Amino acid sequence: MGRQGILIVVSGFSGAGKGTIMKELLCRYEQYALSISATTRAPRPGETEGKEYFFKSQEAFEQMIADGALIEYACYVNHYYGTPRAYVEEKLKEGRDVILEIEIQGARKIKEQFSDAVLLFVTTKDAKTLKERLVKRGTEELSVIEKRLQRAVQESEGVEEYDYLVVNDDLDLCVSQIHSIIESEHQKTDRNREKIKKIREELKGFSKGE
Ligand code: 5GP
Repeated sequence: MGRQGILIVVSGFSGAGKGTIMKELLCRYEQYALSISATTRAPRPGETEGKEYFFKSQEAFEQMIADGALIEYACYVNHYYGTPRAYVEEKLKEGRDVILEIEIQGARKIKEQFSDAVLLFVTTKDAKTLKERLVKRGTEELSVIEKRLQRAVQESEGVEEYDYLVVNDDLDLCVSQIHSIIESEHQKTDRNREKIKKIREELKGFSKGE
């Protein structure tokens, strides 16, 4: 691809549609690699090992922490979630833009370690839509939905720590907006220091009559 991959964090309230957005983004564009997290939560119907998550026992997850195999991890509504290190490092090296679909504590840890990571926050247009989506999805019991909504209140306090806010009202538009944001990030002068240096040296050569 000839350019440095960007580490992209996508967070959002539970039910904001992050999973669907990620699927669509990966389907439309080849430049992205989606990190698969490890978790101690049980698979939902239809979820398979290694596709949505690597499903771990608490002991196995704690062993990954001890081995330094996770870039970050967090506890979310009574379960551990973490990002395996090896895949992220490998894909970034290959020049792919690596997406981490993680919650806010993890996002903060990523920003501490990778200052040039881009942080996006996805929301529905209002809270009512969020609750409706969670209930309609039907993958969690009502008590868990309540906990996830309480967690959303806490997360809403941290949205300003993200670089971009994306509203998922129209899926198509939302995916295009995310892709445009990332493409614009690639054009930032900070990310193109080598190119700028090269052109500057070439121009200096011309002005010396080379
Ligand atoms: P879910 O159980 O709905 O799949 O995920 C619950 C929350 O955990 C979501 O906000 C999701 O973004 C977050 N999450 C998933 N994987 C990771 C991870 O590797 N690290 C962190 N910090 N959060 C994660």
